[in-house]
Amino acid sequence: MIIYVSGLSPKKKMNNTIINKSIQKTNLDWSLIQSELKSKLGTNIYDSWIKKIDLVEEFNNYILLSVSTRFIRDWITSRYLDQILQTIKKHKKQIIRIEFKIIENKEKNEKKSTFSIKKEEIDKVSFIKDSYLQYNRIDPNKRFTNFFIGSSNKIAYEASLKVTENTSHYNPLYIYGGVGLGKTHLLNSIGHEMDKNKKVMFISAERFMYQFVKSIKSNDMVKFKEFFRNTDVLLIDDIQFMNGKEVMQEEFFHTFNALLDKGSQIIVSADRPPNKLLRIQERIKSRFSGGLVVDIQKPEYDLRKKIIDHKITEFVNLYSDNLKISEEIKDFISNKITTNIRELVGAINRIVSFSRIYNKLPNLAETKIILKDLLNLSENNVTIDSIQTIVCKFFKISKNEMLSSRRSRYLVRPRQTAIYLTKILTTKSLPEIGREFSNRDHTTIIHSVKTIEKLREKDPSMNDNINKLKNIILYNKENEV
Ligand code: ADP
Ligand code: MG
Repeated sequence: MIIYVSGLSPKKKMNNTIINKSIQKTNLDWSLIQSELKSKLGTNIYDSWIKKIDLVEEFNNYILLSVSTRFIRDWITSRYLDQILQTIKKHKKQIIRIEFKIIENKEKNEKKSTFSIKKEEIDKVSFIKDSYLQYNRIDPNKRFTNFFIGSSNKIAYEASLKVTENTSHYNPLYIYGGVGLGKTHLLNSIGHEMDKNKKVMFISAERFMYQFVKSIKSNDMVKFKEFFRNTDVLLIDDIQFMNGKEVMQEEFFHTFNALLDKGSQIIVSADRPPNKLLRIQERIKSRFSGGLVVDIQKPEYDLRKKIIDHKITEFVNLYSDNLKISEEIKDFISNKITTNIRELVGAINRIVSFSRIYNKLPNLAETKIILKDLLNLSENNVTIDSIQTIVCKFFKISKNEMLSSRRSRYLVRPRQTAIYLTKILTTKSLPEIGREFSNRDHTTIIHSVKTIEKLREKDPSMNDNINKLKNIILYNKENEV
């Protein structure tokens, strides 16, 4: 299935959106979004990933995209999902999430009209419309076999495993711990294991509330109750988000009891112990406390090391690349990212992504830049001075000329460019930037930033230059990131 029709100029694509809008207000122009992402993320990333995404269908508040492999989906989700969603939201505010569907063997070269989706594909897609089924999307990549165990998570792991072996009389099982420590991973593992011969329901507390409210509105309460009370295993993720709404808690409490009565297993996760939950009825909290309560602690050094090594091996196997990340860098990461396994995994993803784009492994200095926001490093290699020097060299003007008050055109653009880059690459305030550019007023700084922002949108060669400069400043390299 092809959605992206190449060969259209961006302008034409834009016109299409306008036409589409007049017919159906909500139609997204996917090729336009892709081209925006191209200028945002650079040609390399666009060619490697973004280009490979097709739009399958738009729904009220989410959209369904497709890629050809699970790996591409996972890669895109871990690295670019936020930017994709942001860009989509610019065109359609009510989109709040993105779903992916794997469509293998896409025949990219076949000529098809923009919205020709095959009948079978519509059938496959339609399950997503069935909102009840949405709850059961257990992530097959999160299993016991790729959950690494250390002293910080051993108890939670063992309790989860026991539940699946039916040897547990602990009901409910309540797992709690901080963000990114593996709660959802464990719940998925349990779900996956038990799904083989039991009716499993996996739902986040947020979705439970959403569905509850929706069922009331559409007079579907009976169906809702039946559906939940019919399960053998109920997994509820992030119960701390289920707060407020007395009627809903009432319903939850009854469902909970009905399930326990009929011997169904309930597993709950939260970011805090039961007694610390806010705005949840006491009797529900005490029900939670009545089973087995286990916690996951921050990962210890050995576990962090284990996860890093494993992730790297996983990538090496995937790409058959020779990815020899130095011990120095592994040590650096495991010593700096200590409180969150999700960020640890994210850090490795970025290193791998860098090495694939540049065809070399990052050194320690580059690693610090790549992981800057994760590490919260105070040391910042990007200085106003280095920006000015690099921009002057690029436009072949002298620093004196850049900092002078002369307004010749050949000086104004480079000056504005340097100001713009300072704004986006450093945390300096507008007055601070003004001072470094010969005491210019902060309104001049704003004007420069806005001018370059507009030019970047209108003028591809200008945009290219900015990307090049950005990469020289950040990575000492001209290629786009
Ligand atoms: P939480 O639900 O506690 O916020 P997640 O279960 O979503 O955290 O975990 C965050 C990420 O870290 C996921 O990609 C998960 O697969 C990974 N992860 C967490 N703990 C482990 C572990 N012990 N072994 C392997 N991967 C883990
Ligand atoms: Mg979670």
